[in-house]
Amino acid sequence: MNMITNHMPTAELQALDAAHHMHPFTTNNELAEKGARIITRAKGVTLTDSEGNEILDAMAGLWCVNLGYGRDELAEAAMRQMKELPYYNTFFMTSHVPAIALSTKLAELAPGNLNHTFFASSGSEANDTNIRLVRTYWAELGKPEKKVIIARKNGYHGSSVGSASLGGMKPMHAQGGLPIPDVHHIDQPYWYGEGGDKSPEEFGLERAQQLEQAIHEIGEDRVAAFIAEPIQGAGGVIIPPSTYWPEIQRICDKYEILLIADEVITGFGRTGNWFASQTFDIKPDIMTIAKGLSSGYAPIGGSIVSDEVAKVMDACEFVHGYTYSGHPVACAVALENLRILDEEKVVERAGAETAPYMRQKWESLTDHPLVGEATISGLMGSIALTPDKASRAAFAADSGTAGYICRESCFANSLVMRHTGDRMVVSPPLVITKSEIDTLVDRAWKALDQTH
Ligand code: PLP
Repeated sequence: MNMITNHMPTAELQALDAAHHMHPFTTNNELAEKGARIITRAKGVTLTDSEGNEILDAMAGLWCVNLGYGRDELAEAAMRQMKELPYYNTFFMTSHVPAIALSTKLAELAPGNLNHTFFASSGSEANDTNIRLVRTYWAELGKPEKKVIIARKNGYHGSSVGSASLGGMKPMHAQGGLPIPDVHHIDQPYWYGEGGDKSPEEFGLERAQQLEQAIHEIGEDRVAAFIAEPIQGAGGVIIPPSTYWPEIQRICDKYEILLIADEVITGFGRTGNWFASQTFDIKPDIMTIAKGLSSGYAPIGGSIVSDEVAKVMDACEFVHGYTYSGHPVACAVALENLRILDEEKVVERAGAETAPYMRQKWESLTDHPLVGEATISGLMGSIALTPDKASRAAFAADSGTAGYICRESCFANSLVMRHTGDRMVVSPPLVITKSEIDTLVDRAWKALDQTH
């Protein structure tokens, strides 16, 4: 067989792709009919496809390329580490410098006393770790019956059996018989879609208090943890009302429920601070990280746990681990990424300079007849598409493809935005410039004009 390269005609690449490659979150027959968009290279915030088209990536890949594409330093860090020690594990009383250095750096960056990282290769794996970790923690404290994890409808925590069970995505539960036992879901704090006549503050409080009701129903002595994304990402960038997180924190503290902040999307500068727990003043016992940790240049994730949780876990053997927990190359890439984010003040500038500009431009989209609200935190935003701004109505189910049409129109206008239902979401690389933001919003407007 000939070598398959970027230089092959697009149609041939598409045919091979459809013949042999099963894609995630894709109807593969539709892909075979239409052909995949094949991305061949990228620099900064710009992707190039196999036809030579340049596309502004307003999603930073899958919410992960925080530093932007094409940073040679990260490639060099990977190569150095591959030459020196391409692999070794961290099982059975062994360690290596990249894992030591990265866990030390994370202890410095993470808020409060989150000082101990258990590594994985993805957010899904990290959340699977969390399920076993919180149940083991309570068992070690002599409370093995404390094993129910409360999560939220429409939350997303990954695709493995455990993490998808924590997630509250109905179509995911429908495939494969999820959720696993002892996971309970409460409603999301989605004021625009579900708040009716209530004020956002009143609604936020009400939705947070569902946690307390669930604890009462399940029994305080059976609840191990509550897990949530500070801002629901894949669920449509749902920024909770200001009353939500303080009330959740109060309830977790009162009932001694471990609080897991899933910062897989919101971590590493996305909301203008290193972590959204700082943006919302959340004090998690465990934080899930992945994506922006390496800006997507290498697969790595983890769970950062507090001193208190580590103290209990340190006394037992946690019978858990992945071949690639603390993979040295992934750790070296992540370290280099964090070094650049830190030294070039990428996070600081994104929060102080880029985010206010982006907010102003993004909110201007509410002037478009199809946009019911535009909401944004740092560089993570969404717009709600509606046929009727006054009632905040959603499109009817049979025309509920507005988001899909808009996403395709974005592509036609050289812009990647994603849709969840009728919400369009953005999460560009943190290094996006003001003029690139202008281009992003101009193209989004054109795509909206073409959404019928
Ligand atoms: N948690 C959150 C909040 C996510 O958004 C995602 C992925 O989008 C995950 C976990 C799963 O991460 P991964 O896809 O790396 O397994």
